Amino acid sequence: MKKILLFLAAGTLLYACGDAAKTETAGNAEANTGQNDKRFDKYKEWFIEELWKVYPDWASTQGYHKYDSLLPLPDDATRQRELAFCRQHLDSLKAFDAEKLSSANKIDHQLIANQLNSVVWSINELKSYEWNPSGYNLGESFFMILSSKHAPLQERLKMIDLKLAHVPAYYEAARKNIKTPTIEHTDLAISQVRGSVSIFEKSVIDSLKSAKLDDALSKSITARVSEAVNAINGYAAWLEKEVKPTLTKETARTFRLGQPLYGKKFAFDIQSGYTAEQVYEKAMARKAELHTEMTKIAEQLWPKYFDKQKAPENKMEMVKQLIGKIALKHVHRDSFQAAIEKQIPELTQFTNSKGLLTLDPSKPLVVRREPDYMAGVAGASISAPGPYDKGGNTYYNVGSLSGWKEEDAESYLREYNHYILQILNIHEAIPGHYAQLVYSNQSPSIIKSIFGNGAMIEGWAVYTERMMLEEGYGNNEPEMWLMYYKWHLRVVCNTILDYSVHVKGMTEDEALNLLMNEAFQEKAEAKGKWRRVTLTSVQLCSYFTGYAEIYELREELKKKLGDKFKLKEFHEKFLSYGSAPVKYIREMMFEEYGLTK
Ligand code: ZN
Ligand code: ZN
Repeated sequence: MKKILLFLAAGTLLYACGDAAKTETAGNAEANTGQNDKRFDKYKEWFIEELWKVYPDWASTQGYHKYDSLLPLPDDATRQRELAFCRQHLDSLKAFDAEKLSSANKIDHQLIANQLNSVVWSINELKSYEWNPSGYNLGESFFMILSSKHAPLQERLKMIDLKLAHVPAYYEAARKNIKTPTIEHTDLAISQVRGSVSIFEKSVIDSLKSAKLDDALSKSITARVSEAVNAINGYAAWLEKEVKPTLTKETARTFRLGQPLYGKKFAFDIQSGYTAEQVYEKAMARKAELHTEMTKIAEQLWPKYFDKQKAPENKMEMVKQLIGKIALKHVHRDSFQAAIEKQIPELTQFTNSKGLLTLDPSKPLVVRREPDYMAGVAGASISAPGPYDKGGNTYYNVGSLSGWKEEDAESYLREYNHYILQILNIHEAIPGHYAQLVYSNQSPSIIKSIFGNGAMIEGWAVYTERMMLEEGYGNNEPEMWLMYYKWHLRVVCNTILDYSVHVKGMTEDEALNLLMNEAFQEKAEAKGKWRRVTLTSVQLCSYFTGYAEIYELREELKKKLGDKFKLKEFHEKFLSYGSAPVKYIREMMFEEYGLTK
């Protein structure tokens, strides 16, 4: 799951515009539409330039390096500047009638407005800069400058030298911000911030050896690295020795967001047509549905796997034991990557023969062993080029199990058993993330690649899992369906967990009970999920929300279009709008089909 975050953070989804010319609105001349769009395209270019000036650090992580030498301090002056920037651009957006823009631009217009409103709300209401000490971490932005290939190393080190000069003041400002932190984010900050030191002490300093720098610059960087490291360690020590001891259940802020903040954050981050509470209700209903289906399958399969042995009275226990047995069917640790490589053409073949989606054969997916810098978290992920690196390759990274202890590898292989491994490949590759990426690349929009909707991206991948099985992938084997349901329960329970913990006060014991006894997870996974939900909010809902909205949209269109509904056409139209919130895609599909909402 962490990998998925990484995939999103890499911000690679270049977007495809819909058929721009098609979306004239009544009474609006085509020429006029073109004019508006041209004006808006110009505006977007300017907006992005301005955005990177306000957020140079973010720009570096997106592969935009013009402002690498800048490091704004996280202080009140900077926040006022951000607010002014947001107000100015919210005003500029009003100069465009979104209804008169092409569908691609209309979505960009909505995404920009949402982003700006979200920043204003975060600064004025959410205020995580006061309670999340782990938000002050410069490791990634320095690393991105150092590891990028956009300029010779000497040039990049010059930028790093200038940027380094601000690090002590940065942590000075960070300390002033912290008011009532949560215990959880304070602990995270203490370990993570210290972890970032090696990027300075090791990566930056090591690179000095291979770059031919003049003495003065080399000395300056060495001195500034040491000051930066002191500032970072000083911040961590301050948190540990002065802040942490004052934090008790009574004095610290709770990690639970609470209803008002959660509801708003959900609206900004997910951009769903539903409220958080509605999605929670949907997830609860889906869980009950899945349990019913799983029980049916388990009753049917029990004798096949346990012969005459009596099944447990408790149905959930029966399902759990059966899953444990079926999971024993898995590939050997040495052929894990080979098994994935072999499945990609099979998934392509199935998708083509069933006519589910047109796949572009000129853009093959490269399966590779996970590069070293990603190592540590096994699993699979897609890494695609960022918005400023259009020529880059797209890879399917597969975690290597070499060097793993036998029992760890065995437990991992049971998790990614014969059945789940196929579902994982559907999700990550075909027709999941990778296929969506190819579609969105057809007409790139930097706006969508930076502000693209995570719920739509994850929702699509989750949707394709079910769609493929419904279309007969896996020959309707009951084992495949049972394993799919277990896998799907994870995203369903992520949503239930997130909402329950942040809004309804669910305790750790209740959470572990949900994950282990109702979603059939191992204790280690459940504990990890608990930790994640104490440190993040809303993001865990994106998978299920996107999935539910896409699935519902499909069913709705099926009903409305009757015989005229074509699955392939639905998929291709749906993907043609790029990584936009599903509710906007829905609006535009209804418009294209001439349907009333
Ligand atoms: Zn085994
Ligand atoms: Zn995913």
